[in-house]
Amino acid sequence: MTIQKGSCHCGKVQFEIHAEIRDFRRCDCSICKRKGAVMCTASEDEFKLVAGENHLGMYQWNTKTARHYFCTSCGIYTHHWRRSRPEFGYNIGCIEGFDVRGLPDVTFFNGAAMSVVSEE
Ligand SMILES: [Zn+2]
Repeated sequence: MTIQKGSCHCGKVQFEIHAEIRDFRRCDCSICKRKGAVMCTASEDEFKLVAGENHLGMYQWNTKTARHYFCTSCGIYTHHWRRSRPEFGYNIGCIEGFDVRGLPDVTFFNGAAMSVVSEE
């Protein structure tokens, strides 16, 4: 099976994707548009955190369904658990050896259209 290795910038957080790289997308929701990362998809079984759990920060907002993970040392967004579907998204720029100049067409996910809980 293909295993893609991924890491944050400082290398404290390391993960593996036990699958082919697929589903290149960006999202226009208020957090993803700020991150600007191109993200790919991994199922719960395909994503393995191999190092750095103690260096992972996690951010949530609004419905608090999605979990947005980043390295608390270098600040890089590595992966997130999606709200739209029960699966992981991960930062393609974190994948070892992936040439971002060779990105295929990127789909835009309309995250901005997902419901937002009012802030009372
Ligand atoms: Zn880091």
